[in-house]
Amino acid sequence: MNIAVLIKQVPDSTEVKINPETGTLIRAGVPSILNPYDHYALEAALALKKKHGFKVTVVSMGPPQAKAVVQLALALGADEGVLLSDMAFAGSDTWATSYALAKGIKKVGKVDLIFAGMQAIDGDTAQTGPGVAQQLGIPQVTFCEHVDVDGRRVLARKQIDGGHELLEARPPVLLTMIMGKDYAPQHPSFLAVNGSLKKPFHVWSAEDIGAEAQYLGLKGSPTQVSKIYPPPQREKAAMFSGSGQEAVEKILELMKSEHFIGE
Ligand SMILES: Cc1cc2nc3c(=O)[nH]c(=O)nc-3n(C[C@H](O)[C@H](O)[C@H](O)COP(=O)(O)OP(=O)(O)OC[C@H]3O[C@@H](n4cnc5c(N)ncnc54)[C@H](O)[C@@H]3O)c2cc1C
Repeated sequence: MNIAVLIKQVPDSTEVKINPETGTLIRAGVPSILNPYDHYALEAALALKKKHGFKVTVVSMGPPQAKAVVQLALALGADEGVLLSDMAFAGSDTWATSYALAKGIKKVGKVDLIFAGMQAIDGDTAQTGPGVAQQLGIPQVTFCEHVDVDGRRVLARKQIDGGHELLEARPPVLLTMIMGKDYAPQHPSFLAVNGSLKKPFHVWSAEDIGAEAQYLGLKGSPTQVSKIYPPPQREKAAMFSGSGQEAVEKILELMKSEHFIGE
């Protein structure tokens, strides 16, 4: 089988700061990393490669500097890397991103399994994986913590509220991965980094993947961000000391004074 893994380069921070004047993200001085969920997705794909000998291709869409995460994935064991990079992609929302990624996957060739992270830690929408499945017209299983393959059966253990669900699918199928304990993120050795430089690496433009300009960038994005702002700071929590009885009395006193409960 052939596996494609969707990986995104993100700022190394879950606390994205916003410029209050311009309403844009402050990226300066924030190093970039492989999206942590995508690292798990990659490890899941590499585990299948190790067990069954599948081929793993990573696909990323981003500016030229996103090459670093593709190179990292190659050093970690992926066989082939693809970076979709073109000014035509700039300003794409999740739907336009999904369109470009789906086009990129089609150009990769016959792909049986597509892995994505559950979400990116900067955009946080968790829409891109499902969007790609929709664009390709294939089934999807989200929130997976483990994936295995038995012949033509794809077996996925998915996290749900209060438990797990075991699902079976037939390829081609797209799976989004959570950060479960089954796939510990690895670090590449120096030799692996060196070796990765010889692996196939393609940089494709919109034209290369046959993407139509009307479906890309701001023009192809049905959502428009009108404003970004940090949520208002919460008031500090009140702390009460003393015995349990004393603390409860103080809490009741406060709740009465704030009119949460009657006298
Ligand atoms: C109107 C609008 C304009 C935007 N303009 C820009 C802009 O100009 N520049 C910009 O950088 N961002 C822009 N964004 C953000 C951009 O759309 C998202 O970063 C992107 O679509 C992915 O969404 P997400 O970050 O929520 O990822 P999620 O949907 O949370 O990601 C889920 C998974 O999908 C995969 N994935 C997501 N994005 C990529 C990718 N690029 N390559 C490969 N795999 C991926 C990964 O496996 C990831 O774990 C814009 C968003 C909107 C709504």
